Amino acid sequence: MIYTDTRDASVKVDFKTAVMNGMNQETGGLYIPTSYPKLDSSFINKDPTPSFRDIALQMAKPFVEGEIPDDDLVAIIQDAYPFSPKVTPLDSVSYVLELFHGPTCAFKDFGARFMARTMSYFNRNESTPLHILVATSGDTGSAVGSAFHNVPGLDVTILYPEGKISPLQEKQLSTFTGNVRALKVKGTFDDCQKLVKTAFTDNELRGKLRLSSANSINISRLLPQSFYYMYASIVAKNRAAMDNKIHDPAIIMIVPSGNFGNLTSGLIAKEMGAPIAGFVAATNTNRTIPDWIATGDYNARPSIETFANAMDVGAPSNYERIKAMYTLDQVREMFASYWLDNDGILKAIEACNNKTGYIIDPHGAIGYKAWEDIKNGAMADLVAGNKGDFNKPGLTPSVPNWSQKVLDKKAVGIILETASPAKFGQIVTDAIGKEPPIPARLEEVMRLQDRAIPMNNDYNQFKDWLLANLK
Ligand SMILES: *Cc1c(COP(=O)(O)O)cnc(C)c1O
Repeated sequence: MIYTDTRDASVKVDFKTAVMNGMNQETGGLYIPTSYPKLDSSFINKDPTPSFRDIALQMAKPFVEGEIPDDDLVAIIQDAYPFSPKVTPLDSVSYVLELFHGPTCAFKDFGARFMARTMSYFNRNESTPLHILVATSGDTGSAVGSAFHNVPGLDVTILYPEGKISPLQEKQLSTFTGNVRALKVKGTFDDCQKLVKTAFTDNELRGKLRLSSANSINISRLLPQSFYYMYASIVAKNRAAMDNKIHDPAIIMIVPSGNFGNLTSGLIAKEMGAPIAGFVAATNTNRTIPDWIATGDYNARPSIETFANAMDVGAPSNYERIKAMYTLDQVREMFASYWLDNDGILKAIEACNNKTGYIIDPHGAIGYKAWEDIKNGAMADLVAGNKGDFNKPGLTPSVPNWSQKVLDKKAVGIILETASPAKFGQIVTDAIGKEPPIPARLEEVMRLQDRAIPMNNDYNQFKDWLLANLK
């Protein structure tokens, strides 16, 4: 597969270059594939439904063709995914796609684990390790740390702002041994990011250590997230027909979004033939994308802190990829968009639990409420021309091409549940008056010894530490 650049279509690189560079330093653009080969319909319609790993293999093949042989790709996928996504029905036209069954209990495990193993593969003939530096405000650090832990040839240093992440998040990224370690920086997330960025531009340091990043903009994190969209849409299509006699439904993916990497992966799956009719871009108060879809004006803005804090992004980096793939009109045909404030998030967690018994996390809760509103008249109102108050939470005024399917009760929604509710235990407890069950692997991590290394917000100290401690 040839990859190009969102800012310069004349750029042509292979998969290895796109993965190892992360982004195009010369243009500042992001890598995207030049084509999205369709999976064979005989594969998509296979009975019984192919397994998640079979789907992952078929979808990954064209993106790594000529660079990773099939046998090695099979090994990468088996090692990356000892767990699977799970599709759980809420009612006859609503499913939850649980993406939190990986080691860190959030969907970022899907992308980070594939990225770690492809980077290790491309580094296999090097005699020195590749040093990954990551600054994190919480969730990315744990997914990356866990994904790279004990992966050969790779070494990871995570920087996080001391005292500014949750105790569970801190445990999740500061308790590794071996090739992964965390530095607790006396400063903010921006300070951490600046230390990392300065290191990347420090030629003396780069002359001594091979450095790389593990950013969420890396194409090797985006591509594997498309696997579970394909899987879930096939499973839901079959179940809607079998369990509820809804044949050929319009399948709508409701995606709680921050940087819009997850949703971009959904677009890739749709391009590759997944039976997906459209998407709901669901955000918290950081409503940059809903506003863009509604008004046509894109205004990046500073981020606002919310209860769905993994989505506190005011300038979503994958906007650039979406714009490179589609026109605004095409986006409006595919997407409905929706946003919700903190009060709405609490009420949605409560309503979901009362109505279905399901305990949903603050991010998935926005998706849940979006789909409830759409089913219960918000889409009918939009179609009828009643736009509502644009500045209040809710569906924003843009009518997707699948709206009539909702009114005809032929639409089936799949709500992406991006994290385990246990990761946001306090908010969930506040909403429903009881604690969500804690998965054993989260309980275990709370008992591990904290190994974070203190670090001042001082580049020279950071650099000296790297030179003294990394090999
Ligand atoms: C990262 C994250 C998101 C947002 O995903 P994007 O790809 O940035 O849109 C949503 N929910 C959770 C729990 C996350 O960790």
